[in-house]
Amino acid sequence: MSIADRLKSVKQSIPSGVELVAVSKFHPASALMEAYDVGQRCFGESRAAELAEKAAMLPDDIVWHFIGHLQTNKVRRVVGCAHMIQSIDSERLLMAVEAEAVRQEKHIDVLLQLHVAAEETKFGLTPDEAYDLAVRVAPSLTHVAVRGVMGMASNTPDDLGRVAADFAAIRDTFDRLAAGPFVGDSRFAVCSMGMSDDRHMAIAAGSTMVRVGSDIFGQREY
Ligand SMILES: *Cc1c(COP(=O)(O)O)cnc(C)c1O
Repeated sequence: MSIADRLKSVKQSIPSGVELVAVSKFHPASALMEAYDVGQRCFGESRAAELAEKAAMLPDDIVWHFIGHLQTNKVRRVVGCAHMIQSIDSERLLMAVEAEAVRQEKHIDVLLQLHVAAEETKFGLTPDEAYDLAVRVAPSLTHVAVRGVMGMASNTPDDLGRVAADFAAIRDTFDRLAAGPFVGDSRFAVCSMGMSDDRHMAIAAGSTMVRVGSDIFGQREY
């Protein structure tokens, strides 16, 4: 199947109101253009250099989401080309993004990345840390808008109960933040969860944004 056909069937499987980020990391610009040519405008990348390279060569109306772990020494590059950074996993990173956005005189959207999965290797804030950041730090931001949360479920295909519990925990944290520190802030509206293999469960649990890579572009070659 072509990328255009796979994109079409992924889109058909997503209810209206759930946004699709096409995760194009490790795929060449030509693959992104196949999706672009049939209307996809929102793409996700996980490495700063790759994002900068693609953003420079591809059309200006693409909306770029950065979804990978971001080191502070790469913040300048990513703030320069991303519209949204989904992977804010520490206070230090949030403040570095704010400082850089001020410096570049640019407004940027972010999501707080939550760690609820079983794997120690995954990055992110605990729900309590996210709540604390939202209370203490978010009100002082002038160039960064916290638009919601992002999270991944455990990679436990043999334990779908765990996957469902993880998505429920992410959505619950989103709801607590929306009703607490972000109450009345209509910008706080994104619950980004669900990838190729688990997006149906994520949508059932209340995802508003899915990040789908391999189901659109095929397997990545690292
Ligand atoms: C790579 C990646 C995805 C997409 O994964 P697929 O399984 O290819 O759909 C989604 N979210 C994050 C944070 C990723 O790093």
